[in-house]
Amino acid sequence: MTVLVLTDPAAAQAVDQVARLVTAARGVGEVVTLAAGTGSRELAKQVIRLDGVTEAWWGEQPGQERIAMEDLAAWVARIAGEFSHVLAAASLFGAEFIPRLGGLLGCQPVTGVVEIRDERHFLRPIHAGAALALVRTTGHPILLTVRAERFAPAPAANPMGNTRQITDIPPLGLSRRMAFLPGTRAGTADPATARVVVAGGGGLETREDFALVEALARALGGAAGASRAAVDKGLAPVSLQIGQTGLIIAPEVYVAVGISGAIQHLAGIKEAKRIAAIDIDPNAPMGRMADVFLAADLRAAIPALLRALTNRT
Ligand SMILES: Cc1cc2nc3c(=O)[nH]c(=O)nc-3n(C[C@H](O)[C@H](O)[C@H](O)COP(=O)(O)OP(=O)(O)OC[C@H]3O[C@@H](n4cnc5c(N)ncnc54)[C@H](O)[C@@H]3O)c2cc1C
Repeated sequence: MTVLVLTDPAAAQAVDQVARLVTAARGVGEVVTLAAGTGSRELAKQVIRLDGVTEAWWGEQPGQERIAMEDLAAWVARIAGEFSHVLAAASLFGAEFIPRLGGLLGCQPVTGVVEIRDERHFLRPIHAGAALALVRTTGHPILLTVRAERFAPAPAANPMGNTRQITDIPPLGLSRRMAFLPGTRAGTADPATARVVVAGGGGLETREDFALVEALARALGGAAGASRAAVDKGLAPVSLQIGQTGLIIAPEVYVAVGISGAIQHLAGIKEAKRIAAIDIDPNAPMGRMADVFLAADLRAAIPALLRALTNRT
């Protein structure tokens, strides 16, 4: 059995992400990877060294930084039958690509997979992570998006092998990217990949409160995030929302500031290694989740923490 792993050269920490996808795919068989767009050649050169990768393909279209998803899906649809599975990260990239491929092939994808039992059985969270569903699928090829952070990275054990250039991904001309404009997250660290995330919630009242959260995130070398309550209040952009309908994150340390601990928010932080929480209510449910809990007003606690961090350096 051979698995085609679609990789995203534009992903933050792309090599680490692919290494984790390769581990997932190795649960089924050998691995061929495909990267498309700017940076794909460099990515393929690193990926071919990963244990279990037999071929690393890469393709670029002249003048196109990113190959349009419909072009990539149409190309992969032509060769997908040669593979037992086609797999991508459960990221925006995977969410754009795999359903397109499923539509072209008439296959139902299994999404957000956290464990591969065997070639046909997969575990995926349901009900905001409150339960896991064991799914059996019978299609060919089997299409999957996989939560990369749930798998350890495959080691770079192979000697430098050969990569293969794909030259025939024709532009269908259905869509064209006209310009790149700065987004709301531009210039700030990305909570999706940061090792430390400090998130503000409904306990925040003003933009100054969120500025405190951002300052603490910076002081800890991390990124700022938000609960839906903070987003709904207009204090943080929706791109920073963590939870069931936002980002699923797996930082080393997660600091919740004025976040009560609703199940929909917890769905986004289940993989955090350590949780700290600051809440004015000593009985806030987040306290039961937290390894460290500070019962305090955020407007007093964060400036004190910032002073302590400054004095330490
Ligand atoms: C279908 C669906 C999907 C959803 N998806 C998401 C999602 O993706 N992400 C998400 O976050 N939510 C989501 N929600 C909303 C979720 O149910 C909660 O409403 C939300 O998470 C509450 O946010 P919060 O804990 O920040 O705010 P609150 O529940 O209002 O809690 C605020 C906390 O701040 C504390 N506080 C108040 N003042 C201070 C102060 N001065 N200093 C310190 N602490 C203070 C309070 O004691 C309280 O614990 C979803 C809901 C639904 C129905």
